[in-house]
Amino acid sequence: MLDVNQTVPTQALIGGAWQNADTGRRFDVRDPATGHVIASIADCGEQETRDAIAAADAALADWSAMPAAGRAAILRRWADLMIERADELARTLTRENGKPLAEARGEVMYGASYLHWFSEEATRAYGDVIPAPGADRRILVTRSPVGVCAAITPWNFPNAMLVRKAAAALAAGCTLVAKPAAETPLSALLAARIGIEAGLPGGVFNIVPGTDAAAIGAVLTASETVRKLSFTGSTGVGRKLIAQCAPTVKRVSMELGGNAPFIVFEDADLDAALDGLMASKFRNSGQTCVCANRIFVHDSVKDEFAGRLAERVAALTVGPGDQDGAEIGPLISEAAFAKVERMVSDALAKGGRVLTGGAKHPAGDLFYQPTVIDAVTADMDVMREEIFGPVAPLAGFATEAEAIELANDTEHGLAAYLYTRDLGRAWRVGDALHYGMVGINEGVLSSAAAPFGGVKQSGFGREGSRYGLDDYLEIKYMLMGGLSA
Ligand code: ADP
Repeated sequence: MLDVNQTVPTQALIGGAWQNADTGRRFDVRDPATGHVIASIADCGEQETRDAIAAADAALADWSAMPAAGRAAILRRWADLMIERADELARTLTRENGKPLAEARGEVMYGASYLHWFSEEATRAYGDVIPAPGADRRILVTRSPVGVCAAITPWNFPNAMLVRKAAAALAAGCTLVAKPAAETPLSALLAARIGIEAGLPGGVFNIVPGTDAAAIGAVLTASETVRKLSFTGSTGVGRKLIAQCAPTVKRVSMELGGNAPFIVFEDADLDAALDGLMASKFRNSGQTCVCANRIFVHDSVKDEFAGRLAERVAALTVGPGDQDGAEIGPLISEAAFAKVERMVSDALAKGGRVLTGGAKHPAGDLFYQPTVIDAVTADMDVMREEIFGPVAPLAGFATEAEAIELANDTEHGLAAYLYTRDLGRAWRVGDALHYGMVGINEGVLSSAAAPFGGVKQSGFGREGSRYGLDDYLEIKYMLMGGLSA
């Protein structure tokens, strides 16, 4: 069982109280590095979800009426406490998710940065006064919280994906019911406990962990009380949830899958491109939605780039996340592992060439060798689907136009990367890429100051930046008339 500390809650948080499921059911959380059970968590369902929605509704009036500076102070304290307890949060995160401890710590700091950011934005939800089409009138615009919101979050960033939604929602004056992924509920529960210690009033932030995601999701989406759903996860589940939100005309933010192109032009700084690619591709063992998924390198530098990449990748240290120096941890589940194996086999059957890796790693059942596959083609699964594993597929291209066409040939549009030292090309290609985020000579582009989100079937809505608050605010227009003497 969980031996990293004794402070991680194992129950649902509803209305400020820690509660078991009414049925008494519990589910196990496993360490993906060892397969060992590390915790047993309350397995919530429809009833607890309804209770959490009622608690969020009851808390809404006071929370939204609190001056923004008051909400900001609590969010700031929450961030400061998370930073103080970053080691404990990181250890818990690594145990349930598998990522290297240094990355887990980075994620906790990243999550906290959204709390800091939105604690500041909370006080800037400005309205407008607009010149009216008549001298005796004024058009007033105010922005008010959407109301009770729901969040459904994935296992790959179990702290940050939840905290950055909570930061924006709570800053705006909304209250929240969150369902974390069943693989990784501990980080969410621990972050919530710290939030309560920071002064979050009961009911403002509720967490309903559970294995029956469809049942919890059905209650959240059907509820007339819940006025907005923010989801981060797969495109398939996102589509379902959008449909489920239609009958109540709920607002939705969707941060869905990606299929990021990483383009290296012949004029690029190859050292910088390699550094950027290693960070973009192999962070979290390749399990992020902004990971480089398809690597396109100009024909004139491809062989050199591929050789140097394979050397760097072969030197990565694979091992449990809490092992000193580990850079690549386990994949999250057997299903994830089987998917990576299937995609590599498919690539090899269609003519791909393994430069390094290409098989299971002896560190444990869910460890896959960091892999580079050259000579990939558009018909391979590695080019069409999100890989979510430490596998880097490489293809060549001849012209800028071809690179753009290859890069845009996907239903997804989350993150894209390009490396060039030509300023004109940087703008041309950056403009031509149909993506919500473009890293130009940078492999890691996410920060609280920037709007994170996708276009096309990668979703809509933005998290972080000054735009992030808009997702949780309604615009109201009031016309004030009769002003003439
Ligand atoms: P992943 O492939 O990363 O696990 P998912 O989209 O399956 O992505 O999961 C992301 C989140 O969505 C998790 O919290 C998961 O439990 C939840 N989820 C999965 N299916 C549903 C569903 N039908 N309704 C609501 N939530 C769901």
